[in-house]
Amino acid sequence: MKIVMLGAPGAGKGTQAKKISEKYGIPHISTGDIFRANIKENTELGQKAKTYMDKGLLVPDELVVDLVVDRLAQDDAKKGYVLDGFPRTIPQAEALTDALAKIGEKMDYAINVEVPDENIVRRMSGRRACVACGGTYHIKYNPTKVEGKCDACGGDLILRDDDKPETVKQRLEVYHTQTQPLIDYYEKEGIMREVDGTVDLEDVFNAIIEILE
Ligand code: ADP
Ligand code: AMP
Repeated sequence: MKIVMLGAPGAGKGTQAKKISEKYGIPHISTGDIFRANIKENTELGQKAKTYMDKGLLVPDELVVDLVVDRLAQDDAKKGYVLDGFPRTIPQAEALTDALAKIGEKMDYAINVEVPDENIVRRMSGRRACVACGGTYHIKYNPTKVEGKCDACGGDLILRDDDKPETVKQRLEVYHTQTQPLIDYYEKEGIMREVDGTVDLEDVFNAIIEILE
């Protein structure tokens, strides 16, 4: 099963992708997590990506596409995957479709987690991310058992630099101009599905399971 998660930054793509990954035993592939891991390791890719991420801009397509195509060729991705944060532009979506077509495959579902902009800034300012494993929580809507520590690995939780309100506004603008057109793209491919992302996260997940089963 190959799934693309769509939605504004903070819509809940990562939260749901993690749950899908656990339920169906397929890897959760987040380009944002890959970039953050590279920033932490201070790689050349990380240094380049950071200059864009800090401004709330997208990392250029040429730095993203090969990275994802290589990741999808790994053994654990043979039985499917859930993509979170990729594709984010039409050229990225086209590159993904082409790479899959070359091996006789295609995406099964694109799931749009729909949340209005008004809710997003509130969600992002309460989001806390684990520096060690990338796990995502919310101080109010999805709190950890021990404050400031990741439930999964015990790592420290931080407020991401790009989750500050000024940057979130820029990211939303980028989403509407560059990423939202993907809804049409996958509509035309006949695989677009929508869920209401404003309800409780377990209810969002139940709606997704209904689509997948
Ligand atoms: P994305 O991957 O789309 O950027 P996240 O999955 O990281 O978004 O979710 C953004 C924030 O909103 C996180 O703090 C998360 O815990 C919280 N969140 C996710 N889904 C819901 C929901 N259905 N209701 C309330 N808060 C949610
Ligand atoms: P995310 O964790 O998905 O919210 O991504 C955080 C940031 O990483 C984004 O604001 C972009 O700067 C960058 N990024 C992640 N995925 C992509 C992508 N597919 N294309 C371009 N930039 C990306």
